[in-house]
Amino acid sequence: LFKPIEKISAILELYPKGMAGFKRFTDLMDEEVDVVDKEDAKPAPLLDGAIEFNDVTFGYEENRPVLKNVDLVIPAGKTVAFVGPSGAGKTTISSLIPRFYDINGGAITINGINITEMTKESLRSQIGIVQQDVFLFGGTLRENIRYGNLHATDEDIYHAAKLANLDALVESLPNGYDTQIGQRGLKLSGGQKQRIAIARTFLKNPPILILDEATSALDTETEALIQQSLKELAEDRTTLVIAHRLATIRHADHIVVVTKDGIVEQGTYDELIENNGVFATLNSIQIKQ
Ligand code: ATP
Repeated sequence: LFKPIEKISAILELYPKGMAGFKRFTDLMDEEVDVVDKEDAKPAPLLDGAIEFNDVTFGYEENRPVLKNVDLVIPAGKTVAFVGPSGAGKTTISSLIPRFYDINGGAITINGINITEMTKESLRSQIGIVQQDVFLFGGTLRENIRYGNLHATDEDIYHAAKLANLDALVESLPNGYDTQIGQRGLKLSGGQKQRIAIARTFLKNPPILILDEATSALDTETEALIQQSLKELAEDRTTLVIAHRLATIRHADHIVVVTKDGIVEQGTYDELIENNGVFATLNSIQIKQ
């Protein structure tokens, strides 16, 4: 639902701006033509295998590739972190896995099956995405968590909230799970919203996870709670982390360093520090900051 909601908010924002706005809106719709299922696309099996990029080339605009001949393996059940300067293509890599865009060359496979052979619905239903912008609708906390899986029982919701470290928040709310939050309700902090997103993803229980780490600083206590919940969420799932703060990915199974030149380094945290290359430089800059 993220893409349509993004489009709707774009429309609402542009509506009062007259024809200039209308023109921008049509541009947006033209640009964001969604990918379509192949006629013979099949429902995907349980996607608990490795994700592989084979010679992948992709650009948002013709003749302006963002990714060129990328080869990459994200092993089944492991956590792979992507780091690198802003604009290098980290988010782009992660958005190709749910097929938000079709690639221009090469292949992306999961369980050895090309993702273009699967129905989008069966592919996307097996991918959980936790982003820094969390969408909360006007409704109760319970309804907002249930959004992760509309068939979830109250017991499932309480369990997911516990795993996401939401217990203390629930206790502090005037009506617990039945407190109105979101647009017309109680305003929650960035860290609280993110834990709701984590609870939703526990409910969804997907084999593949994409975590887009928040860039904005949270207080240390909230940060620790979120990191702990994310660690539990990532357990036994094939996980991509788009990391901005290098300290948080110390324990990733594998780190991929992406720059405008493509993938320039890969390894564990200790290996990359030892290497004394791009990662070690980025790391020492962040430590100084
Ligand atoms: P950041 O750390 O700032 O999130 P990133 O490494 O995730 O950056 P991307 O967001 O993947 O980088 O962007 C890679 C390139 O693609 C950039 O040059 C960016 O301007 C461009 N880009 C990203 N999204 C779009 C889009 N929807 N349309 C056109 N160009 C885009």
